[in-house]
Amino acid sequence: MKVYTICLKTYMIDQFAKDHSLPSFRITQFNLAYYKEFISSYDELSTWPKALREELKSAILFSTITPSTILESKDKGTQKIVFTRISDEKRFESVLMRHDDKRNTVCVSCMVGCPMGCAFCATGKMRFIANLTAREIVDQVLYFARILKKQKQVVTNVVFMGMGEPLLNLEQVMEAIRTLNNPHCMEFGIRRITISTCGITPKIYELMKLGYKGRLALSLHAPNQTLRESLMPIAKTYPLPELMSTVKAFATRTQLRVSYEYILINGVNDTPEHAKELVNLIGEDIEFVHINLIPYNPIPGVSFSRSTSRSIHEFADVLSEFGISNTFRVTMGDDIKAACGQLANS
Ligand code: SAH
Ligand code: SF4
Repeated sequence: MKVYTICLKTYMIDQFAKDHSLPSFRITQFNLAYYKEFISSYDELSTWPKALREELKSAILFSTITPSTILESKDKGTQKIVFTRISDEKRFESVLMRHDDKRNTVCVSCMVGCPMGCAFCATGKMRFIANLTAREIVDQVLYFARILKKQKQVVTNVVFMGMGEPLLNLEQVMEAIRTLNNPHCMEFGIRRITISTCGITPKIYELMKLGYKGRLALSLHAPNQTLRESLMPIAKTYPLPELMSTVKAFATRTQLRVSYEYILINGVNDTPEHAKELVNLIGEDIEFVHINLIPYNPIPGVSFSRSTSRSIHEFADVLSEFGISNTFRVTMGDDIKAACGQLANS
């Protein structure tokens, strides 16, 4: 019997249907149950005859990842799952954030570890271990969709802000996005998907060429080249001026605001002078600019600390004075190390 478990494509169900000469309505039934009704096992695929379900069970894994640890923050707003991927038992993490405004955001990983080595990031400290496949990415979203369904809720947003750099695993990330967005699969709104990147300039061009219409977040974290290089090694390869103009071109093309992520680190990048430099870097064209100020989340072995609330307010005030839209991101789940940059399996 043919086994499809190692196939990387999300569409292996098509191949299964072809090999079994199934009529097309069987795929429609499968897609409805799996991607829209979020069944929790093939046994619930009740529109298929039992014998065919059994065939499917032995041919295609129901999920390519299994949860090994489930952690919930004290306020219950954040859930972190450590997943083990079935193919090689490597572990990575995903996070569900339930916001007060009813948004349920799934923060997915696209890699185990990350090769970028940013000075402030726990995932970067792990270095690169493996790329996740499109199916492993989609399976993270489906896992949370199944949990939320039991509470009559849905996943409202997907952000690539877990482990790894999405633009360095672009093929699998794009395939995952196509599956999420596909009307026959999850039919998840493209504008509810955000790719966050440390700034791989040529890959942002590639995203445009591929016609990606979702949101983009740029992890900026410094207002000048020297400081950025000291925090993010990749900045040496892709300097700020070209990166900024590329991101602006992306925003013009999609007509969507780009979120510039800026971690505030005490005494490093958080003075009013840094804020003014940031205003200059952004320039006059601020229509599609949003700056997301993020409190630094402490990670082991790094001596940085979080900015004081006074510096944070002063920083935000400078941005507001120049009319730049900004928010201060509420830290969610830091008691379970599920906050940004704290994802690393210990
Ligand atoms: N590699 C991508 C996406 C994953 S990182 C990127 O860098 O954008 C997701 C976000 O967490 C990024 O904005 C990243 O800069 C931020 N982050 C990393 N370490 C952090 C820390 N210690 N405290 C707060 N945010 C952090
Ligand atoms: Fe990688 Fe993003 Fe962490 Fe930098 S911040 S090491 S790019 S995951």
